[in-house]
Amino acid sequence: MATTDVVIAGSGPTGLMLAAELRLAGVRVSLVDGLPARTGESRAGGIHARTMEILDQRGILNRLLPQGRQMQAGHFGGLALNFADFDTDHPYLLAVLQSIMERELEGRADELGVNTQWSSPVTGFRQDEAGIEVEIGGVRPRTIRAAYLVGCDGGRSAVRKLAGIDFVGTDTTATGMIADVELADPPAQPFFARRGAAGDYSVIGFEPDWYRLVVQRHDLVLPRGAELSFEDFRANFLELAGTDYGMHSPRWVTHYGDAARQAVHYRAGRVFLAGDAAHIHFPAGGQGQNLGIQDAVNLGWKLAAAVNRTAPETLLDTYESERHPIAARVLRNTRAQTALMRPGTHADALRDVMSDLIELPEVRHRLGLMITALDIDYDTKCDHPLAGRRMPDAALITTTCVTRFFQLCRRAHPILLLLDGTPAPVLPTGFEHIDVVSAVTPATAWAIPGAGRIPTPAAVLVRPDGYVAWATGEPGADGLAEALTTWFGATA
Ligand SMILES: Cc1cc2nc3c(=O)[nH]c(=O)nc-3n(C[C@H](O)[C@H](O)[C@H](O)COP(=O)(O)OP(=O)(O)OC[C@H]3O[C@@H](n4cnc5c(N)ncnc54)[C@H](O)[C@@H]3O)c2cc1C
Repeated sequence: MATTDVVIAGSGPTGLMLAAELRLAGVRVSLVDGLPARTGESRAGGIHARTMEILDQRGILNRLLPQGRQMQAGHFGGLALNFADFDTDHPYLLAVLQSIMERELEGRADELGVNTQWSSPVTGFRQDEAGIEVEIGGVRPRTIRAAYLVGCDGGRSAVRKLAGIDFVGTDTTATGMIADVELADPPAQPFFARRGAAGDYSVIGFEPDWYRLVVQRHDLVLPRGAELSFEDFRANFLELAGTDYGMHSPRWVTHYGDAARQAVHYRAGRVFLAGDAAHIHFPAGGQGQNLGIQDAVNLGWKLAAAVNRTAPETLLDTYESERHPIAARVLRNTRAQTALMRPGTHADALRDVMSDLIELPEVRHRLGLMITALDIDYDTKCDHPLAGRRMPDAALITTTCVTRFFQLCRRAHPILLLLDGTPAPVLPTGFEHIDVVSAVTPATAWAIPGAGRIPTPAAVLVRPDGYVAWATGEPGADGLAEALTTWFGATA
């Protein structure tokens, strides 16, 4: 029987990111997918600021930036949401196709030694105190023994069903339809969305010669497996838009609904769920792929620490306690966006009110920071205002170089950053995997999205996912020992 440390079911963006995170920590990974090969299809068309920061931390973003288009605004329920003044190096939406994301993440996983095993669906598992045996079906049925199994196998997750984890939420009330096409008679504007009598339609010019056309109907619910032909799509688009722009040569036609569901638990013993396997929702505001990648980065270092015995087992429970509320608020905001997008007099009035409110910087920031996930504030049991927030990409001068914080994060190690002459504490045995960095920073305060300007700390302990575990404003190490044990303490 083959053995590994972690079996990942699903080679979408979530599974690929998780595989790379685990490999950075030296964990053995089997990445399996039920499909015979990658489809090259792109549901998602963009990523947001926090995802870009995470990819920047791992040195992957520079591969994506030239392949995407930077757009200053995203949207909330179709109302423009400008990110330009957000405190990040990436105050924009990067319009980049999911197929490109997957290609780059796959290249990265490959460099780190993981290749997807295709035609390998997970069909069952048995777990006990010592490990888990994962049954793989398909053309080469086999069993893989591992320490953990992670279901990154999408909205219809077999792993979630096999684990008996309920997926609760609301059913579909509206239907979105997509066609990636060429246009004989394209509109003058390459990007726009309009409201019609039964819903809305949009045109997105992805590349010079092809467009994504979208129709969202609120008077129709298509069952999940129903076929949507190109001619059906054309008829629906024509009905709402009054023109078909001469659409032809479809590359992909599909439909989706606004069902919003979330796994009640993200863990069942040695089994975890991440990405769409853990949560589905209407793709309003473009958040799903971002959520999945960020689930993977939150889970990756914790699972690696459990395998490598560099953290207490209880650390694994913080995956659900931290990530479940984040997806729950995405479900909430996408339901709110669906309500805003409905046609009719009442929704029109609501949109008018929201259009006014969104002009207020505070409202725009609140909604934008939620959509971009820049405002995440995990409970790390430390009362410094930086604790739980994402560490900014601070400019730093060390004894050997001028750098930025994100460049220190390439290897996904925990980092104890000592600033402006704070003496290095002697770390107890068992904490050798923590990078201790002494540096000077030119800034007297850091602008933290959602928290305002915070005076630069004297020392800060940053987790491998880029979130602050502990910080202090005064030179000294009050609370550091406790934080080290909570987050990075070795298992007996
Ligand atoms: C129309 C539309 C537009 C969207 N736009 C955006 C956007 O702009 N931005 C954004 O962030 N998100 C967007 N999303 C959401 C995004 O596409 C998903 O959230 C994302 O694909 C989830 O990634 P994942 O890896 O979790 O799951 P998936 O991408 O679904 O990958 C799951 C993988 O698991 C495999 N699998 C299934 N069953 C098994 C099994 N039993 N064993 C092994 N493997 C299995 C599948 O073959 C698949 O490869 C959009 C979604 C839709 C529908």
